Amino acid sequence: GLPALPPPVLAPRRKTRKIKVGKVEVGGDAPISVQSMTTTLTSDINATLQQIAELTATGCDIVRVAVPSQDDADALPAIAKKSQIPVIADIHFQPKYVFAAIEAGCAAVRVNPGNIRAFDDQVKEIAAAATDHGTSIRIGVNAGSLDKRLLAKYGKATPEALVESALWEASLFEEHGFRDFKISVKHNDPVVMVRAYELLSDACDYPLHLGVTEAGPAFQGTIKSAVAFGSLLSRGIGDTIRVSLSAPPVEEVKVGIKILESLNLRPRHLEIVSCPSCGRAQVDVYKLADEVTAGLEGLEVPLRVAVMGCVVNGPGEAREADLGVASGNGKGQIFVKGEVIKTVKESEIVETLIEEAMRIADELGPE
Ligand code: SF4
Repeated sequence: GLPALPPPVLAPRRKTRKIKVGKVEVGGDAPISVQSMTTTLTSDINATLQQIAELTATGCDIVRVAVPSQDDADALPAIAKKSQIPVIADIHFQPKYVFAAIEAGCAAVRVNPGNIRAFDDQVKEIAAAATDHGTSIRIGVNAGSLDKRLLAKYGKATPEALVESALWEASLFEEHGFRDFKISVKHNDPVVMVRAYELLSDACDYPLHLGVTEAGPAFQGTIKSAVAFGSLLSRGIGDTIRVSLSAPPVEEVKVGIKILESLNLRPRHLEIVSCPSCGRAQVDVYKLADEVTAGLEGLEVPLRVAVMGCVVNGPGEAREADLGVASGNGKGQIFVKGEVIKTVKESEIVETLIEEAMRIADELGPE
């Protein structure tokens, strides 16, 4: 038969240059990557590698570690060597750690033009060292640490100010023939952030790293990031993303992946189609949906599982999904690919769905 068409996206991707962050390509036609940042002391090599392993297992593509001290810089060679995913060293204030990170074998270095003032004179050497080692750079502008000159010029961290700071820094690298960088212009306000990335996307073709900075605790941060990234990604803007949450970094990765999956920018894995419940529900839908979600967590195959509270919309949705249940009268009709395969007692719904999901997963085999 004909090969399956790729799922539709809302807009074609904007064309950007492609760079490499270690083994991961960013920009151009490369898949949009998901990043996070460790919360351990970077100098604690074992704890940091342990967290990186958890992030890797969750699907993180690229990880960033903070390098505020010499002890942290000293830990970089071991971390860069043992991490399974590319490591980016996050450097503020101290240009000497930029060189240390490059020599340590980090895949990339993030510099903040707002707080590396001494840095402008050293761009030439940094560009040369980065070129020698195949290291890329992220020019990471942040509203909270905007270059003082631009703060004075614009009064506050406006979208224009963020973009001007980034492009100024970019021009310093360009002067030395260095172009292997991506850019971020983060702000905690999704509206300012979106505007800044729109301007940046119009002004250059460097790959863009999306982020809403200090987005807040998980609930608020997830929404702010989803809204802001969704606005940009749905118009083809953005090459790599980092969700910032005041929550464990694996949560950031899960949210990032879900945002990409929602926009068909990454193949969907497990998707629970569950109803919000209403006065017609004859089963505790929330509990059922939570139990099914928990039971299927980590399943690596694309699977839509419908969990429906009653027989009004239930059978219809359950039929559209790969697998589903429509509940009623203390029972659950279990559907597989549109066919009712059995009716089970309410108490057996969860285990039956999990069993069937595992069977379908086995049939599909590894991706
Ligand atoms: Fe209500 Fe049934 Fe729809 Fe769930 S599937 S929201 S219970 S009508």
